[in-house]
Formats: sequence, structure tokens, C-alpha cells
Amino acid sequence: MKIGFIGLGNMGAPMARNLAAAGHGVTGFDTHAPMPEGVEAATSAAAAATGAEVVITMLPDGAILRAVAAEVIPAMTAGAVFCDCSTVDVESARAVADQAAKAGIAALDAPVSGGVGGAAAGTLTFMAGGSDAAFATVAPLFAVMGQKAVHCGPSGNGQAAKICNNMILGVTMIATCEAFALADKLGLSRQKMFDVVSTSSGYSWVMNAYCPAPGIGPKSPADNDYRPGFAAELMLKDLRLSQQAAEAADADTPMGELAARLYAHFVEAEDGRGMDFSAMLPRFEKRHRG
Ligand code: NAD
Repeated sequence: MKIGFIGLGNMGAPMARNLAAAGHGVTGFDTHAPMPEGVEAATSAAAAATGAEVVITMLPDGAILRAVAAEVIPAMTAGAVFCDCSTVDVESARAVADQAAKAGIAALDAPVSGGVGGAAAGTLTFMAGGSDAAFATVAPLFAVMGQKAVHCGPSGNGQAAKICNNMILGVTMIATCEAFALADKLGLSRQKMFDVVSTSSGYSWVMNAYCPAPGIGPKSPADNDYRPGFAAELMLKDLRLSQQAAEAADADTPMGELAARLYAHFVEAEDGRGMDFSAMLPRFEKRHRG
């Protein structure tokens, strides 16, 4: 397939490299990052999109996505698919899909889970919003870049699935970390806490697969001085998107709101920036009630 790939940063570069390695013709554009192996350089985003059957974007936020889409969609061939894999607000995803539809272009919002490791290994999970036909066109590319793709419904539903998942993840991480800090103060060893909770009703992906306590459970960023992994500031970004969506949809999300506030404080006023999001545990360890 002929693919235009725009945004070749930490995630985009390995995704584009995997597409090229699978035999697809990939033309790339990034304002700063170098071209990954096998990707032909274009001089602009519009040039990367010209003649492509699928244009994939992997960009920092909704404002940049809207600007890139405004430049790229007019350069695309009618019938082609614009597939955004960035994590952005639901409103931007739907606005870009509307703009694409007016130009005869199909759009998919297809954010990913799996991080930089999953992008490099080609094991991402895609959650997509858009038409059945657009999903069917891009599905073979999802199969190269990932191990699972779920079609979540119309435009915006991929982003909705992503932020709901990550709101659960952020809240669960905080709950797990504060419980470990309480267990410490009650004289319960972390290993015993893990042994009980990981096989009891408090179990979760956070406890069982990504334990925030070093030396316990499978290897996780806690065993690597809390180097990310999934950085606290990326969790903050996703929690803020969840609260923006909750505000727009008039949904009551008190735990998500508190998680967003705690991660904001951790990243902006404490030493959380650049740490894995599980570094909430050493944060709670140092604190007292009140
Ligand atoms: P990144 O900052 O490494 O990459 C973004 C790239 O976009 C950069 O190389 C930047 O130069 C480029 N860019 C910015 N403006 C541009 C423009 N106008 N035209 C062309 N290129 C432009 O970020 P990343 O970690 O690769 O994340 C990309 C997206 O994926 C984000 O939305 C992020 O939330 C999401 N995401 C990241 C992870 C992760 O673990 N890093 C996991 C899941 C989802």
C-alpha cells in the first residue's frame, strides 16, 4: 500500500519503520525528527499525503492534528483514508472526520495502547472510530503495527475508548500506591500485600502486571528506578483529556477528576516529570495524612 506518515517521533518512527519493513511504500514527514529506516522523506505534510491510499498521523495533540489535517486533506485523493493514531480530544477527532468527509476522504481515529515498546515490537492495540469501510482498508496496516485492533464505532469512539481506559488506569494506579503506603505504615510487608491482593478482589493490571513496588511481581519500571515506561506527564495528558470529555458530555467522574489533580501536582509542583506514572508510590511513602 502507498502510505503517507506524518509525525515520526518516539511512537511514529517505529510504527513507520515496521510498515516499510513489511513491504509498504512509506513516505514520511516530521518538522524535527529524522526519517526512520526505509521511509522516504517528503518536503511537507501535504507532499507526504499526495497519492497515498492511507495517511497516518502520530502527533502530540489535537491543535497540531487539526493544523496538519487542514493542510493534508485537500492534498489527498478522494477515497483515501486519513487515519490519526495520536491521543487527542474527542472533539478534535470528530472535527477532523467532518472536514475529511466534506472532501470525500474517510477518517479514522485510532489511538494506541502499548507505548514505545509495543510500537517497536509491532504489538500495539488500536481502538478505532470511523466507518466499517475505512476500518477494513486500514486493518492490514494495524496488523503490521499491532496485535489487536478493535472497531469501537463512529468517529471519536476510538479516542473515547482510549481516555476511558486510561482514566481507569490512572485511578487504579493511585489506589494501588496509596494502599501500599498504608500497608507500610501498618507493618504489612509489600510481598505479603502483593501475595494477597494479586489473588484477591483488589487485583488489577497495575498490581499483577505493573506492580509499583520494586522487587515485587513481574519486572516493571519500579525495578528500574521508576524510569518510564509510561511517563507521569503522559498519564496527566490523558487524564486531562478524560476530564475535558466528561465536562463536554456532562458526566460525573469524581475519581478521574481527583486523579487528574494529583498527577498535575505530581508533575508540575513535585518531582514527577520524567518519572514513570507508578512513581506515585514513593510520593505517597514520603507523605503524611492532612
Ligand atoms: P513525540 O513528541 O515523540 O512525537 C511527535 C512528533 O510529531 C515529533 O517528532 C514532532 O516533531 C512531530 N510534529 C509536531 N508537529 C508536527 C507537524 N506540524 N508536522 C509534522 N510533524 C510534527 O510523541 P510520541 O511519544 O511519539 O507520541 C505521539 C502521540 O502518541 C501522542 O498523541 C501521545 O499521547 C500518543 N501516545 C504516546 C505513547 C507513548 O508511550 N509515548 C503511548 C500511547 C500514545
